[in-house]
Amino acid sequence: MKNNNIPTYQNFINGEFCSSDDSLDVFNPATEALISHVPASSENDVQQAINAARVAQKPWARKTPNERAGYLREIAAKIREHAPRLAKVISEEQGKILPLAEVEVNFTADYMDYMAEWARRIEGEVITSDRQNENIFLLRKPVGVVAGILPWNFPFFLIARKMAPALVTGNTIVIKPSEETPNNCFEFTKLLAETSLPKGVFNVVCGSGLVGAQLSASPDVDMISFTGSVGTGEKIMAAAAKNITKVNLELGGKAPAIVLDDADLDLAVRAICDSRVINSGQVCNCTERVYVQRGAAAEFTKRITQAMEQVAFGDPLKDSDIVMGPMVNKIGLDKVAASVELALQQGAKLECGGRVADTGKGYFFQPTVLSQCDMSMDIMRKEIFGPVLPIQIVDSLDEAITHANDCEYGLTSAIYTRDLSKAMQAMRELDFGETYINRENFEAMQGFHAGVRKSGIGGADGKHGLYEYTNTHVVYLQS
Ligand code: NAD
Repeated sequence: MKNNNIPTYQNFINGEFCSSDDSLDVFNPATEALISHVPASSENDVQQAINAARVAQKPWARKTPNERAGYLREIAAKIREHAPRLAKVISEEQGKILPLAEVEVNFTADYMDYMAEWARRIEGEVITSDRQNENIFLLRKPVGVVAGILPWNFPFFLIARKMAPALVTGNTIVIKPSEETPNNCFEFTKLLAETSLPKGVFNVVCGSGLVGAQLSASPDVDMISFTGSVGTGEKIMAAAAKNITKVNLELGGKAPAIVLDDADLDLAVRAICDSRVINSGQVCNCTERVYVQRGAAAEFTKRITQAMEQVAFGDPLKDSDIVMGPMVNKIGLDKVAASVELALQQGAKLECGGRVADTGKGYFFQPTVLSQCDMSMDIMRKEIFGPVLPIQIVDSLDEAITHANDCEYGLTSAIYTRDLSKAMQAMRELDFGETYINRENFEAMQGFHAGVRKSGIGGADGKHGLYEYTNTHVVYLQS
């Protein structure tokens, strides 16, 4: 039953908002209230969106990169104009605290501008040939129609992370937001519809994993850019294999933080606590396990427990002075509770928290510290995706690096030490896409966000992220 007092959003296909026969309900995770109806796009809707992106792609690619960049700048300006409202929409459906949602919105606008700056720097190459009077040209060409399939944890920024490099390099895109957090994408789309962006260049369909599965299996999609869980990444790769469709996969993480005896403990405690509770611990690159050297272990555990106990949480749109909101949904909450329970059964010691918070409504989990953990426990190997920090004591940097690398994930890692040679050893030997030294795990747009092992294929951000959205075309010119 539809509630007429809440927003009902529509697909965005070929520059038009169009209704769908079926819909899904979206809820506020802090209050459990129904907050919107969104389309459960049909197979026909999805095909129409792909077709629109296909028709729009060639004319779009014929524009100069700098012309294309102009549209991104126009969209960035719109985002800034409506930033406070957009941040509220994100907080309401995803549960992140308002200041973090504001950071996400502003970062998204900056990201659009940053990718626009690359328009004048998309480089090919001219290479000398072994033949007389011949040059070899390497041209960068758009891949074609991109499907961007999004998770719920940074739902707004991830639109830009996929759309901005795709569009500036001459691709068109069909976005599928997570069914948990689609409202911000539709509010963004309403703003985008007010800009001069040509129709069909950006399209939005919505729904469950079935919509993502259709996009992934479509022979009419040239590239799938996905951010989400490893399990879904595996399904997408399998579907894409039928058409040998290009994939870019940003998947899960189990980031280790190594704290050595000589670390600045004030810094390590602050950075690791922030990293563990930001977005209620639902961030792919933030610290998920700690290896602390024996000499610092007791002090570190005492201080991080105090810090985690002081983390105030509540409803992001009602309560002030909070640093954490709810988990995104009941499934996420139950998963975190189960992983803590299993860790305790397997021998971990509870230092603080450990339970679903007694708030009546909403999906809140207490900030939790577990000590006496080891690599035989699931909590040191499986992604938790909640405000829970397991700690293991190690005797040396070598031991810490061995445990850190002994994991199916390889997204980010961190080390806290004052010893440059130890930091350099970690840089050489940690087998991860990213390492943060004496700093919280949060990437910059000019870096390259990518994982090894099951954390993904390809990456995002910077020049290398931009070029993920291009094919290389080699031309041999004999003259
Ligand atoms: P998820 O895999 O459950 O869902 C992500 C998206 O995939 C959703 O839009 C969903 O509808 C869609 N989907 C589901 N089944 C599908 C299928 N068979 N084919 C195609 N699409 C399908 O992930 P989530 O729960 O939304 O996000 C949390 C996960 O994302 C965590 O594991 C986290 O580590 C990861 N993540 C990674 C990064 C990164 O940059 N590496 C960033 C954010 C989140």
